[in-house]
Amino acid sequence: MTTASSSSPPLNLGLHWSNPFAALGEDFHVPLQPTPLPAPYWVGRSERAAKDLGLPLTWLESTDMLDALAGNRPIEGTHPLAGVYSGHQFGVWAGQLGDGRAILLGETGGQEVQLKGAGLTPFSRMGDGRAVLRSSIREFLCSEAMHGLHIPTSRALCVTGSDEPVRRETMETAAVVTRLAPSFVRFGHFEHFCHHDQHAQLKQLADYVIERYYPECRTSDEFSSNPYANLLRAVTERTAQMVAKWQAVGFCHGVMNTDNMSILGLTIDYGPFQFMDGFDPGHICNQSDNQGRYAFNKQPNVAYWNLYCLGQALLPLIGEQEQAIDALETYKATYPAAFDACMSAKMGFTDAQSGQRELAAEVLQLLSVERVDYTIFWRRLSHWVAARDRDPGEVNDSVSDLFMDRTGIDRWLLQYSERLTHYPRALAANLMLRTNPKYVLRNHLGETAIRAARAKDFSVLAQLLQVLEHPFDEHPQLESFAGFPPDWAGSIAISCSS
Ligand code: AMP
Ligand code: MG
Repeated sequence: MTTASSSSPPLNLGLHWSNPFAALGEDFHVPLQPTPLPAPYWVGRSERAAKDLGLPLTWLESTDMLDALAGNRPIEGTHPLAGVYSGHQFGVWAGQLGDGRAILLGETGGQEVQLKGAGLTPFSRMGDGRAVLRSSIREFLCSEAMHGLHIPTSRALCVTGSDEPVRRETMETAAVVTRLAPSFVRFGHFEHFCHHDQHAQLKQLADYVIERYYPECRTSDEFSSNPYANLLRAVTERTAQMVAKWQAVGFCHGVMNTDNMSILGLTIDYGPFQFMDGFDPGHICNQSDNQGRYAFNKQPNVAYWNLYCLGQALLPLIGEQEQAIDALETYKATYPAAFDACMSAKMGFTDAQSGQRELAAEVLQLLSVERVDYTIFWRRLSHWVAARDRDPGEVNDSVSDLFMDRTGIDRWLLQYSERLTHYPRALAANLMLRTNPKYVLRNHLGETAIRAARAKDFSVLAQLLQVLEHPFDEHPQLESFAGFPPDWAGSIAISCSS
């Protein structure tokens, strides 16, 4: 396969591009072209993401597209750049970070298109500007999995790979993920300009975000007539909703640094994330997180802490501290309400009533004592409710077999069934089967796809993508992806290294 160089004439992909982020000016980014990736090949492609972006389906077959998305050919109409941001990492001010390996091409179909792993930038610091195949596959699959789960997320269009060696703990190979989001602006962007007392740029960025993504913050005076306080409130709200969904599905992000927090409340920067197998509230998925700062059950508080950093950064624009605090305080009501709503839906309750919170807490406690498989528990419970709709005498063995303490779970199931009698059972079952996924991207599934891809077999990845795009559906041929994790799953170590 030949590789075109970036000095080749720009490719016309037949897309309409705009570059509003580039138009912010030189204080926000440095223009640069991606570094070509030698002899690229397709590793994974999401037709669904392509369709959502408005790409013609023929793109999947196109060598031009392969070259363009590997960073080997400039694309007509784009204005590639690396953005600058700062942030708090593991609770400590980290100073300037920035796009050290992601290059923003521009915007098309309402989505910014970034090539992650596309080479050195002025913000690469000690890094090599590359991403490895392993982490690129994980980000690709998880982005589309989260979208399938209706959890706000950046998307991923494809992964292109290369045999170019990249050093991490061991030698690996390079890959590029093409990822999409309406905006990749992070809390850290605001922290950056606040830290440097660049208040004009801070305002320019906040106005840009409000104009494009939160226009209601300028026009609505429901809470305050201060658009920046409104912005903080709106981001607080969206972040609370997002984290509630993580908690309900058993997702650990792993690196909730403020530079990994999206201003749009999207899940971004997939690194050492994990969907939990056995339910363990204190689970730490990131091997590099020695203190457990980002343990599963810490995520809601960490999000709040991060929002405080954002509030601090916006303070020069908000003016009055009271207004910032008011906006942030909404988290204390929004998060629990959002989490309760998620858990009620998981239990099949079509409305929120008192007592449901306690019921959810009790079952989570039972699950945690025995580290019961989180996804399988909820899916079996859903099937049991569906079966009881057809036959009220249906026994609950499939659920209680998951526990050694049968008394505890049987008592809970009794309480639960009593409460469920207040709801139309068919509706409840339907809600549960649409809320409790059958398929999540367990670590060992990702690992299986990675191992096959290293041997140039991309079929596992494609199959996995197929189920993760529709995680609530039954996929009888791919039942094995819904089973318990194998013993070796526990030994997969996921660190920040990517
Ligand atoms: P992350 O932990 O992936 O969110 O990255 C944190 C910061 O380190 C960001 O500024 C990244 O751009 C940068 N970074 C991570 N890995 C690399 C790499 N291999 N080369 C250059 N910069 C990197
Ligand atoms: Mg990051």
